[in-house]
Amino acid sequence: MNHNIYSVFEQHFPASAEDIFIETAEGELYSYARLQQEVARIAHSLSAMGIQKGDRVAVQVEKSPQVIFLYLACLRAGFIYLPLNTAYTEAELDFFVENAEPALVVCDPISEVLFERVGSKHGLQHILSLDANGRGSLISACENASTEFTTSACERNDIAVILYTSGTTGRPKGAMITHGNLAANGRALQQTWHWQQQDVLLHALPIFHIHGLFVACHNVLLGGSKMLFVAKFDAKTILRLLPQATVFMGVPTFYTRLLDQADFNQSLCQNMRLFISGSAPLLEQTFNEFKQRCGHTILERYGMTETGMNTSNPVDGPRLAGTVGKPLPGVEARIVDEHNHLLKNADVGTLQVRGENVFKGYWRLPEKTAEDFTSDGFFITGDLACYNEQGYISIVGRNKDMVISGGFNVYPKEIELLLDEVAGIKESAIIGLPHRDFGEAVTAVIIPEDMTQIPTEEQIISQLKKTLASYKVPKKIIVLEQLPRNSMGKVQKKTLRENYRHLWD
Ligand code: AMP
Repeated sequence: MNHNIYSVFEQHFPASAEDIFIETAEGELYSYARLQQEVARIAHSLSAMGIQKGDRVAVQVEKSPQVIFLYLACLRAGFIYLPLNTAYTEAELDFFVENAEPALVVCDPISEVLFERVGSKHGLQHILSLDANGRGSLISACENASTEFTTSACERNDIAVILYTSGTTGRPKGAMITHGNLAANGRALQQTWHWQQQDVLLHALPIFHIHGLFVACHNVLLGGSKMLFVAKFDAKTILRLLPQATVFMGVPTFYTRLLDQADFNQSLCQNMRLFISGSAPLLEQTFNEFKQRCGHTILERYGMTETGMNTSNPVDGPRLAGTVGKPLPGVEARIVDEHNHLLKNADVGTLQVRGENVFKGYWRLPEKTAEDFTSDGFFITGDLACYNEQGYISIVGRNKDMVISGGFNVYPKEIELLLDEVAGIKESAIIGLPHRDFGEAVTAVIIPEDMTQIPTEEQIISQLKKTLASYKVPKKIIVLEQLPRNSMGKVQKKTLRENYRHLWD
């Protein structure tokens, strides 16, 4: 049996190949037959360039149906797909190219020169372009390629995708996700969410992250169903398309933005079966307001890049605000104290998970991988959790120093290192503060060298913008004479968060 996840998808394609896979917000239609042809063409032409099984294909492009075909072509040919956030700057991309050593980069035409510069330092052989309209040298290279392709034979443990997640050290780590991980998680979600072929997913998430790429697209592919494909979340477009959809997936920010629309109401949601939220905590207030406004109870689920989805509230049982539900089929979850002793009930501890969904390890970082697993094979998520009386899990915090802003993870260390380089700044701390729209707003606390010569917020922010993706750039700079520290000299971020928790009210 071929464990290539593309083969698994293919088994679930609809009986009629003319059924629609993607309908864009502009009304362009792509059938399952078209999917198979485009995927074969891309797989052929990349193979003809010399890209081989196991080679990395790094992709930094705007969302379009052609990116989905490129992703599927990489899976089908056994290449390792490596999606990159479109917000990354040259300094960030330099690291990924050096670390992942891709055989090919596919990028927006405007970034070709940048990748040539970066690539020449790190021996990158091939660069192809793909623009937001699905045009570019990638597509022209495929024009005459065959529309038949023999799917590469893969084992469960073969790497399908590398997704970079940042770390406390500030250095991103590549999570190696296998064909088997994707299949196991896809099956668990189909079952838990009662996915049906008739489902129509309204897809407005970015596709360089597990949420938009795996959770959203894989459910559609495994259901043989259709998605309404929106290039970027825009509340007005969502309202226009909602009546044609049955499932919507979003980060909490999407839900607060829908609630900000005066004309968002129950009648737009008459065909909707499920509103799903994840990637960041959904506020109880948003959960309640949403129910009041449109009659739907948002289903919250929890997962992460390294593990895929771990838990979900049920489709056919109570969905509880402030909880992420129970472990998915095939996922073992446990909550432990600092001595690795099992906790029950409302005691807060670290959440650990084990199952076929859990990734293979970090790319070229065996020691870091070993550190993040227990001796009996559980992955230490770094999230703090507890059970309620019904056995549902709540994520109550993180013991990793991470901020989640608008659904994107921001690792303070990376920003603090850059802040400390700004002339006039002695030291700094990055914290996340509660924000209705972003969930958490990235906020910087700085200690100037000299209180009479403090660099301005504008100066600091414009310097950071040169190297950091914009979602990581602090939204405000707070100036203090010193940072609160404990007796061990460790910065007390908890105190800072407490002191400024109403900053964005
Ligand atoms: P990522 O790897 O970008 O998907 O981020 C994973 C992290 O997002 C998790 O470790 C959690 O800290 C957080 N996360 C994801 N879903 C939820 C949720 N429903 N509630 C709270 N935190 C979440």
